[in-house]
Amino acid sequence: MLNLVIFGAPGSGKGTQSAKLIDSYGLHHISTGEVLRAEIARGTDLGKLADSYISKGNLIPDDLMIRILDDLLPSLMADGRGVVFDGFPRTIPQAEALEGLLLKHGTELHGVIGLEVPEEELVARMLRRGAETGRADDNEETIKNRLGVYHTQTQPLQAYYMEKNKYMPVEGTGVVDEIFGRIAGHIEKRTGHRPRK
Ligand code: AMP
Repeated sequence: MLNLVIFGAPGSGKGTQSAKLIDSYGLHHISTGEVLRAEIARGTDLGKLADSYISKGNLIPDDLMIRILDDLLPSLMADGRGVVFDGFPRTIPQAEALEGLLLKHGTELHGVIGLEVPEEELVARMLRRGAETGRADDNEETIKNRLGVYHTQTQPLQAYYMEKNKYMPVEGTGVVDEIFGRIAGHIEKRTGHRPRK
């Protein structure tokens, strides 16, 4: 089993590299942002609540986010292959909860891939994505708040995971396949797992 967190600021390429990870290692993927956007698109009560945070660039409260993950985890864990966690955890309480949830499933987190990208590049990528996909929170004002939220609430996880010797820093600029090569190198060194293709 291989459980990984893909970590980084908004716009750092977590979604892009997650897609390559699940394909190359045969893993499941959970993007909490995608889960919430699907709820918004379906107009559910959870979606309406989530939208009130997402549209401002703020984080959904920890207890709600942890409950959502707890509900989704059994099906992701069932076949024992492993999961890429994308956009979760975003706070220290979420990271602590993840540890407990994985333990409940008899497993653990094997590593955290930290995509490191300069801020100007993050902003440019998100503005481009906003123009190409119409993603509502990829506008200049919300991006500014999301980056602020990242620095105050999420970035402390870097030190948290460094201390646990789980953090693998990866330069997240350049060609997508080159970045993935760096990630694969870290994974092999740390866990012995190699891409299956
Ligand atoms: P993402 O697609 O990961 O960039 O997430 C988009 C938005 O969804 C974030 O700006 C938050 O408002 C919300 N969100 C996603 N994941 C989480 C999380 N783990 N905790 C709190 N809010 C989240």
